[in-house]
Amino acid sequence: MASRTTRTARTARTTVVTGGSRGIGAATCVRLAGEGHDLVLGYVRDAAAAEATAAAVRAAGARCVAVRVDTSVEADVERLFDTAESALGPVTGLVNNAGVTGPLGRLADATTEDLRRVVEVNLLGYLLCCRRAARDMAARGGGAIVNVSSAAATLGSPGDYVHYAATKAATDALTVGLSKELGPDGIRVNAVAPGIIETDMHATMGDPDRPAKAAATIPLGRAGRPSEIAGAVAWLLSADASYTTGTILRVAGGR
Ligand code: NAP
Repeated sequence: MASRTTRTARTARTTVVTGGSRGIGAATCVRLAGEGHDLVLGYVRDAAAAEATAAAVRAAGARCVAVRVDTSVEADVERLFDTAESALGPVTGLVNNAGVTGPLGRLADATTEDLRRVVEVNLLGYLLCCRRAARDMAARGGGAIVNVSSAAATLGSPGDYVHYAATKAATDALTVGLSKELGPDGIRVNAVAPGIIETDMHATMGDPDRPAKAAATIPLGRAGRPSEIAGAVAWLLSADASYTTGTILRVAGGR
């Protein structure tokens, strides 16, 4: 268990994780806590899950604040970062993770409302968080951003959610462009592109058995675990990745 003394002996790190209440975001929060980060955990609805994850983070020895925010709303994003700074100090890391898919299906059958929501959360939300992080981190001379993308960005996901895949391809473009824009400011920008990971997301999109069903199509023969994505995110935020920027790290079992 990392103690407060251990953490303050190193450089203080305060990291914002959007969608930190469940799934990949929750695993990332707990992993980062063990590596000496203090955490600001964003969530939108599930306060009980957010509090459970915050408790796990504190048990790992880190400070943690849970903030209810809809990342597609500018004022919410501003409040998230303002709260982070006032409660824990300057933000040194951002994990852009909050994402939605809408129901599984062909584009021809998708509603405009679902398309709009996916674009607003997955793309506008990532842009708003990156913009605020860029402003704050540039003013303080550095930081690191990790955008959680998806293998869907290159697979296209026909029949499932091409609109979601499109937002993840946009995430990759955002990552590459912003890394070049912010490199001179000492800010690294990378992405992790997970394959099919065992989280609630599949039940939410209408097929809770999707990870098990997909196993046969994955070279490693199984879906991934949230902790396996958290490890990649933690590495990209760490000093070991000090020369890594503009990278899309695929963590998809070979898919
Ligand atoms: P998940 O289990 O469904 O959790 C989604 C998280 O995002 C929750 O913490 C949720 O908060 C939060 N959230 C949703 N909409 C939000 C909004 N508008 N504002 C703020 N927070 C919001 O999802 P996951 O599977 O962990 O996915 C995390 C990321 O990984 C997403 O970007 C997703 O696209 C990506 N990804 C997932 C997979 C996969 O197979 N699971 C594969 C590739 C990429 P509440 O708890 O409050 O609802």
